Amino acid sequence: MQLYNLKDHNEVVSFSKAVTQGLGKNQGLFFPSIIPSFSKDEIDHLLNLNFVDRSTEILSAFIGEEIDKDLLKQRVANAFTFKAPVTPVEKDVGTLELFHGPTLAFKDFGGRFMAQMLQHIAGDEKITILTATSGDTGAAVAHAFYQIPNIKVVILYPNGKISPLQEKLFCTLGGNIHTIAIESDFDACQALVKQAFDDEELKVTIGLNSANSINISRLLAQICYYFEAFAQLTKQQQSQLVISVPSGNFGDLTAGLLAKAMGLPIKRFIAATNENDTVPRYLETKVWAPNKTVATISNAMDVSAPNNWPRVEEIFNLKGWDLSDLGTGKVSDKVTAETMKELDKLGYISEPHAAVAYRLLRDQLEDGEYGLFLGTAHPAKFIESVEGILERKIDLPKALADRANLDLLSKYMPADFSKLREFLMSLPK
Ligand SMILES: *Cc1c(COP(=O)(O)O)cnc(C)c1O
Repeated sequence: MQLYNLKDHNEVVSFSKAVTQGLGKNQGLFFPSIIPSFSKDEIDHLLNLNFVDRSTEILSAFIGEEIDKDLLKQRVANAFTFKAPVTPVEKDVGTLELFHGPTLAFKDFGGRFMAQMLQHIAGDEKITILTATSGDTGAAVAHAFYQIPNIKVVILYPNGKISPLQEKLFCTLGGNIHTIAIESDFDACQALVKQAFDDEELKVTIGLNSANSINISRLLAQICYYFEAFAQLTKQQQSQLVISVPSGNFGDLTAGLLAKAMGLPIKRFIAATNENDTVPRYLETKVWAPNKTVATISNAMDVSAPNNWPRVEEIFNLKGWDLSDLGTGKVSDKVTAETMKELDKLGYISEPHAAVAYRLLRDQLEDGEYGLFLGTAHPAKFIESVEGILERKIDLPKALADRANLDLLSKYMPADFSKLREFLMSLPK
């Protein structure tokens, strides 16, 4: 597989290089030189396979000879150990539930596949993943790399500034997962990570690597669940399918568009955002003008400069599609809360991110169409806001309830790079 840098098309790298490096020159994103495409018969064949076999075919079509197909299948089986069911909500609407993994959010799919790929590429080499988190990503990364040989993970987070349940989710694992509560804010954690990557001696000695959200392996993994959703629908539903994607960094939407570009006949997409509406405004005015990020109840979508947008535009350009066919819109917190109540009345407990996607789907779906909105997180993951809005208690899934009783294993540290460096150098080889 070859990928080019969207900011400098002369920089062309292999899949392995793109996975370990993350970004290209000038912080450019990598994009596949060829988007594989399937004929109608091949799509029909794929839809009849099980999730792991089908996903292996899809990923292998991209990755090609760089990874042997049987080995790839084993990796896919290790990563995709949970289901992505479509649950009906109304006669013409269903939700694709992507939150049945260990950290209860869709990021488990991409995170776990990336971990498998990094392990495969590193081979016997020892590597250390260093990352900063404000909550969600850290949990997905920790669980994805937990107990993977030769890989150590160090996660920095701001002490006291993430929810107690989130902290329990990834700071109780131990083993190869090291968590450090920094006595400062998220920006300070990110600055420490940056300092570590600028330290050549440290980088080489401990084999420093990032597990960045723009990593191409994550996106490829996410393509697979769009096929999985499609396979669960009736012929009638498949023929007029509209998918609404709650969007922050627009990675999930990029993966859906790649699925369509490969030949999966999805009629159209809706990119749903909260008050952080840079993309809807851009499509209306043609001016890219990010505002200051505002905090909302769908906080995983609080992104005002979505970093996957150049990939979205590249797909539309390559395929000759018209950006005006992309549905968009923004949903306020007030309407999000009302929509969660509306869904509750329909018998479906949802959380703020999915509710944003449902709102725009419901408003924009036309007669004869079938709509899917992505359920990106389990309601228990946002238990405070869900219980507050629905005015009743909801159950914690067993995995989370069990974790909530374990002791925290985190170290505590001031925001001091020399202390962090000392710790990293002292980790067992
Ligand atoms: C990350 C996240 C999103 C946004 O996904 P992007 O790929 O960044 O657009 C939406 N919902 C939840 C729950 C998330 O964690």
